[in-house]
Amino acid sequence: MHERKPEWLRVRVNGGSKREEVEEILKRLSLHTVCEQASCPNIMECFGRKTATFMILGKVCTRNCTFCDVRKGRPDMVDADEPLHVAQAVRELNLRHVVVTSVTRDDLAYGGAEHYAAVIGKVRELNPEVVIEVLIPDFKGSYDALSTVIDARPDILNHNVETVPRLYPEVRPMAVYRRSLELLQNVKKMCKDTYTKSGIMLGLGENEQEVLGVFRDLREAGCDFLTAGQYLAPSKSHHPVVEYVRPDVFESYKAKALDMGFKYVASAPLVRSSYQADKAMKMSEL
Ligand code: SF4
Repeated sequence: MHERKPEWLRVRVNGGSKREEVEEILKRLSLHTVCEQASCPNIMECFGRKTATFMILGKVCTRNCTFCDVRKGRPDMVDADEPLHVAQAVRELNLRHVVVTSVTRDDLAYGGAEHYAAVIGKVRELNPEVVIEVLIPDFKGSYDALSTVIDARPDILNHNVETVPRLYPEVRPMAVYRRSLELLQNVKKMCKDTYTKSGIMLGLGENEQEVLGVFRDLREAGCDFLTAGQYLAPSKSHHPVVEYVRPDVFESYKAKALDMGFKYVASAPLVRSSYQADKAMKMSEL
């Protein structure tokens, strides 16, 4: 277990008044963000830039990934006003790019896919110009659940593979690597205009060949955008950090991934799945 974080992982950015403004809106509209729930190191910067990743379907997850700081257990009631509240927050924050994600709700029929569709619909209704990215769970591989979300026409469908297949039993025991790849492939079958995106954390014990293998698998599944960032353990009871991967290694992964044909790659220690998410669309439209 690595104790001291290397200097490239130390962030000191003050979000200032904009951060308070974001927090006030979130509180007033009883909204949650993954930024707060997952203790994201970029929160100051993103709130300061008036971006946030909304977390719908409550704060309690039905799964038990060992890297994740989100609470596990008996999930919350689904808030029927959430679609409207997210849409209002997007308008008040004047967001150009919104990311909507959730805990995994294996307790709900279709895993909450209809609620995702309702949020996308309401956000689009109140904010016709905004780019909508959804970071979804695997809906236990349900094709119908996925098509419910895709029919609502998000601009970007994001689903993280998180790590290399060998580490799934210890990092994401209730997920299936092939199922996640299939989900991304199915998006392109359902709607080829929807961009797909996936992300991986490094520093959990993977080796270079395994990481490049995941990149190849994602490209084969038609994945357009890729993120890679350093795993940071939320606490001693979470999966340990096996390695702090150096920034130049992230750079070399970025170059190799772009050579494989990804339209956009964000690969650096502090990159998170929806960090500076708006850049991907800009790059892909160049
Ligand atoms: S499914 Fe998502 S929210 Fe749930 S424990 Fe895993 S990473 Fe965390």
